[in-house]
Amino acid sequence: MDATTNNMLRTFLESEHKRLVTEIEEMEIEGHEALSEASGENNYRDHMADQGSATFSRELDMTLDENVREALSGVENALKRMDEGVYEACERCGAPIGEERLKAMPTATMCITCKAAEESR
Ligand SMILES: [Zn+2]
Repeated sequence: MDATTNNMLRTFLESEHKRLVTEIEEMEIEGHEALSEASGENNYRDHMADQGSATFSRELDMTLDENVREALSGVENALKRMDEGVYEACERCGAPIGEERLKAMPTATMCITCKAAEESR
């Protein structure tokens, strides 16, 4: 991988990192607001249906939240691997992951063969 490609991927990962951190911060703020709204409503109104949908949307938020956190840890891991100089090596077998694969998926940590093996377990 040449320096240009490496810089391009690093820039992408760093901006993804910034975007995901912002997204998590925003979700935390919204989460607090949703929680206080829901409990405020229950003080003077006790509709089971409303309660049910509030719980449902909170669960949905938590799933989104987990996805974002997972994406963030993937990005952090990729940046760490870059710093360690092992970014292009498959973490399972050590073979090169391949420039095309990394361009398509900058957070990939395994070569296509290992990834396929991992997924078919
Ligand atoms: Zn491999």
